[in-house]
Amino acid sequence: MKRPRIVISGAGIAGNALCIALNRRGIIPTIIERADRPQPGGHTVDLRGSSQDILREWGMLESVHALAVPEERMVAIGRGGRRLWSMPAASGAIVADLEVGREDLNDVLRQAGDANSRFGEEIIRSSLTQSGVQIETSSGRTIDADLLVAAEGTHSALRARMFPESSLAYLGGYMAFAPVPFPPDFHGEMRVYTAPGGVMVAIRPGRAHGHAIVAIRAPRVPQIERDTSAQRKFVVEHIGRAGISGDWHVPSILDASQHDPGFHCDALLKVSAPTWHRERTVLLGDAAWSGSPLTGRGTAMAIMGAEALADAIARRPHDLDSACRDYETRMRPLLRWSQRDASPRTLRAWAPASAGEILLNTIFMRTLTRTPLRTLLTRPDGGNLPRPVHAAS
Ligand SMILES: Cc1cc2nc3c(=O)[nH]c(=O)nc-3n(C[C@H](O)[C@H](O)[C@H](O)COP(=O)(O)OP(=O)(O)OC[C@H]3O[C@@H](n4cnc5c(N)ncnc54)[C@H](O)[C@@H]3O)c2cc1C
Repeated sequence: MKRPRIVISGAGIAGNALCIALNRRGIIPTIIERADRPQPGGHTVDLRGSSQDILREWGMLESVHALAVPEERMVAIGRGGRRLWSMPAASGAIVADLEVGREDLNDVLRQAGDANSRFGEEIIRSSLTQSGVQIETSSGRTIDADLLVAAEGTHSALRARMFPESSLAYLGGYMAFAPVPFPPDFHGEMRVYTAPGGVMVAIRPGRAHGHAIVAIRAPRVPQIERDTSAQRKFVVEHIGRAGISGDWHVPSILDASQHDPGFHCDALLKVSAPTWHRERTVLLGDAAWSGSPLTGRGTAMAIMGAEALADAIARRPHDLDSACRDYETRMRPLLRWSQRDASPRTLRAWAPASAGEILLNTIFMRTLTRTPLRTLLTRPDGGNLPRPVHAAS
């Protein structure tokens, strides 16, 4: 049987996970990545829903567990260092039961996969042919494929070109990440500093260092979005305006935001694409369904989507349009789960503007974490990949 020729654009978690899932079905894809090398950085990502079951099936759960960040709980700290509320790590909690550095996870997935990989290259044109899709890359190469997978993340160029009806909804602010020293007296806890002003700062543990997160409520400023020094300035200005520059561990976060090469900032955006496949091009991962880092479910969804897509391709290698339809039928129901927290309301809870908002949030979170309602946090997180549509075929 002739194996389908698959080209994946994007060597992030989704692209590398798809490579492994295809390898398991005897297919070696081509991966084209725009960056010159695997993208470093990011803080910890959550492995929720059935993503852990899939990693177990792939024989990778142990190696991923070996990279896990020991993160015990999340603690909200108020002005003066008072603990407002705390939530232990658990399947359905803010800190999941398995948290791994994004870069570590991406490395382990990339090393496990077998692909013809091209870094520093991107697709500039693709067109439908009688037998599939013809792809032209920025280095002048032409590749004939049966299926092109856009796993290019939230700002996917292929999605913009091939799915112009898709949209990006702005969720009311920005989020920035930077490496910082992890304070030893945090005892493995993620700590979130809560003060009025519409800016949240937090520090999470990591394996080599801590990770600072800054969430900012603000109108959209498109001109900073491709300009790292403008983003650094934006973050510093907003922390200053919130009046917290000298508080808590904010000085070290400010320092990293101004100088650290690992600084990364993006608008909080939710992707909506009415269809995920067209003309032998299919969307996967954040390119298809990102709910922004506010949801904490993008990585689990990337792994589940990769498994669903590879399974559908292997079941219908000679009818890839139907395979893409099957994949979409399996993944669509998961959107309600994965994009549940993708809203400005979530950002308002993280980055309260006033003392009143902090009080309401504290009462809500104490009720959730100190009463029998806390069982909601420990039950298995609800996103499980539905069984294949054509399980019997
Ligand atoms: C540097 C970085 C840091 C991140 N940090 C966090 C974090 O701290 N917390 C969190 O929850 N999520 C973070 N994410 C997002 C998280 O990785 C995703 O939500 C999730 O893992 C799904 O991954 P993805 O592969 O769909 O998208 P991504 O992880 O965004 O990967 C997309 C890949 O496609 C590449 N690409 C983009 N455009 C093109 C193009 N035109 N041609 C070829 N390649 C292209 C990108 O360079 C990237 O390697 C981060 C992503 C990146 C890239």
